[in-house]
Amino acid sequence: MQTLFVTGGAGFIGSALVRLLLAESDWQVVNIDKLTYAGNLESLAELKDDGRHVFVQADIADRAAMDALFARYQPRGVIHLAAESHVDRSILGPAEFVQTNIVGTYVLLEAARSYWASLGEEARGGFRFHHVSTDEVFGSLGREGFFAETTAYDPRSPYSSSKAASDHLVRAWHHTYGLPVVVTNCSNNYGPYQFPEKLIPLMVLNALAGKPLPIYGRGDNVRDWLYVDDHAQALRLVFERGQAGATYCIGGNAERTNLDVVDRLCALLDELRPRAVGSYAELKTFVADRPGHDQRYAIDAGYIRRELGWTPRESFDSGLRRTVAWYLDNPLWVDHVQSGEYRRWVQQNYSER
Ligand code: NAD
Repeated sequence: MQTLFVTGGAGFIGSALVRLLLAESDWQVVNIDKLTYAGNLESLAELKDDGRHVFVQADIADRAAMDALFARYQPRGVIHLAAESHVDRSILGPAEFVQTNIVGTYVLLEAARSYWASLGEEARGGFRFHHVSTDEVFGSLGREGFFAETTAYDPRSPYSSSKAASDHLVRAWHHTYGLPVVVTNCSNNYGPYQFPEKLIPLMVLNALAGKPLPIYGRGDNVRDWLYVDDHAQALRLVFERGQAGATYCIGGNAERTNLDVVDRLCALLDELRPRAVGSYAELKTFVADRPGHDQRYAIDAGYIRRELGWTPRESFDSGLRRTVAWYLDNPLWVDHVQSGEYRRWVQQNYSER
């Protein structure tokens, strides 16, 4: 059984990846997560406790802890997702973003490099440091065009600039030290287990609570949406078959304005959980725009499709329906996340191993 490190595996995308790897591969997954407000082990509660999933609460910026983990588990590689990930939070308090996304990635790279350098030649060649990043590093598009692997970086928010810096560090560790890295830049994800500060769960939960549905500006900002399990499949493929030093852009080919997304959510909720009177759409409220709000993101995923044969399985309509149904079916997960109850649950159900 080979071992793989996943950082940030208690977060939204990381937990989807851990579930996928445990279901569809025979890897042992060492899940390294600091459990910030965004990390939630309840998202992994359904996993069998058969020793293939090892959870370690640790900060990626803690060099001694990272060194000890590499020495103990001797992994074949790392899929690095741990990050501060919310743009609005980065505007209010950028320090954590610099610390985790830049310093943390640097520390993890150094720990990985030192472990990798100690391996025999064959193991060194098979090692991968897979850095998971965002299309937001490319800045903002007008009405035309797409981001691709060759697009110049032009990040605009504290979040995207910290991710851009980490992407540069990862590529530099490849060019300078020969560390076999791969980088993926993905568009907006949605799906089950997403923390309710992000657009889609925020709108679903506000709607169910009868609260306003806040839409930035005119609601005409465009995002390219990808169902989280499709992202997880792409990550697995790139980790296993991606070429060292290469970058792969991942996207859903599903551009929607924020207003379209909210309208679609309201229509789904009207169908699946009708209000006593009227439509959820009556809760829509336009609010002052986010400072520096990028207008449009869209990915050309042609390279990963041609090179690795990846395409998303879920359409936006089917993925959104599954997502809304999941939030309706899992009120306890939502309650615990919103109340901090899950931290007590972690203490009762999980001990660090
Ligand atoms: P998330 O906020 O849901 O999860 C992040 C996880 O990282 C949490 O479990 C948190 O506890 C952990 N973490 C934070 N700081 C840490 C630290 N210092 N040490 C160890 N663990 C730490 O984020 P997400 O939406 O799942 O995103 C995961 C990754 O994918 C991020 O790197 C993000 O930039 C990238 N990404 C996200 C999207 C998206 O739409 N959500 C799209 C493209 C790329």
